[in-house]
Amino acid sequence: MGKRVVVIGAGIIGACIARELALAGARVTVIEANEPATGASSRSMGWINASFIEREDYYRLRLAAMEAHRELDRAFDGALQTRWTGSINWEAAPEGMEALVAELGRFGHPVKLIGRQEFARLEPEVADLPEKALLMDNEGHMDAAHAAGLILAAAQAKGATVLTGTPVEGIARAAAGGWEVHTALGALAAEDAIIAAGTRTGDLCGAAGHQLPMKNEPGVLIQTSPVPFTLNHLIWSPDVHFKQLPDGRLICGYLFSGAITDGGGVDGVAQRMLGRLKERLPRVADSLAIETVKHGVRPMPVDGYPAIGRLGDGGAADLYVSIMHSGVTLGPVVGKLVAREIMTGERDPLLAGFAPGRFNG
Ligand SMILES: Cc1cc2nc3c(=O)[nH]c(=O)nc-3n(C[C@H](O)[C@H](O)[C@H](O)COP(=O)(O)OP(=O)(O)OC[C@H]3O[C@@H](n4cnc5c(N)ncnc54)[C@H](O)[C@@H]3O)c2cc1C
Repeated sequence: MGKRVVVIGAGIIGACIARELALAGARVTVIEANEPATGASSRSMGWINASFIEREDYYRLRLAAMEAHRELDRAFDGALQTRWTGSINWEAAPEGMEALVAELGRFGHPVKLIGRQEFARLEPEVADLPEKALLMDNEGHMDAAHAAGLILAAAQAKGATVLTGTPVEGIARAAAGGWEVHTALGALAAEDAIIAAGTRTGDLCGAAGHQLPMKNEPGVLIQTSPVPFTLNHLIWSPDVHFKQLPDGRLICGYLFSGAITDGGGVDGVAQRMLGRLKERLPRVADSLAIETVKHGVRPMPVDGYPAIGRLGDGGAADLYVSIMHSGVTLGPVVGKLVAREIMTGERDPLLAGFAPGRFNG
């Protein structure tokens, strides 16, 4: 009989872990407070990237994630609708971009500094172009809620059970070993339990007697009416970023983090974002309209890096946690690495710098 594992949370992270566990022969139950992928995964830009090297181990994890995404894309035969458009980015000042190209170049990362002329050739509809920008050919984007739904269905096809509308109220050690996961439906017994509850992960860890300090950060996205042209890349400018959905609509985000304290709240942010988008896309400035405003919260440990591994002293009998920003990028690789650790006890060196034990004491 396969190992009995409970996964708490059915966002992109819980879905990826559940699928890999089910593929590895575990008896998986996913417990979700609401409906699958209605948390941060439904309000995400969905940019899949490894464009930054704040820390080399974090870069390497993201790079492995890009590879895992390609593999997942092939496994689903395109149904995930991952769009490998590449991105054009000029968020940093020119000196910063040159430094990044040099740094990424050390790892053989496909990044190129392009001038205004080449930018205009690649994206004829985008206005107010910078002198220089970074072209990252290997990046992509996806609708994480759509993907999480299919990934979870694949886990179910391999025998996983998904309980929705069932908040986990607490997790306690079972007298006979393993865990009792408490919900209004009663207690579920499991040999292993993984908390992948997004912004609520810190609370669940706290209820189980462990500290996982978090600094969840809000973010706003707008979805616009369709535009009558094709945007070839995900565009990341210093004040606004945007991408196109297969039906022509745009998803647009705004570069800020922290509380939405400036005038007009979420609606004010959305209107300012639309204004900036119109400046970037003058041909549709008169017709572009907001169809949906998505106000999300980014799940994030307090130091900004993923927390993936056993709580407490990290012993094999402890609760497992998997929480991070950039979960859309990281989901597929995290799913594989977590499932391997749960099933074999083998911890991948890629996860070495991301153990939750760094918050102990
Ligand atoms: C505006 C915005 C833009 C972003 N852009 C990007 C991007 O471009 N690229 C990128 O990689 N990432 C991006 N992110 C981050 C990314 O979306 C998240 O890291 C990712 O969605 C986290 O997935 P998750 O499964 O951990 O969390 P979630 O999707 O929030 O899923 C957690 C689930 O746990 C459930 N849950 C919570 N408590 C309980 C409980 N007690 N019992 C049972 N279930 C529970 C919730 O209902 C939820 O469904 C963005 C996020 C935001 C908000």
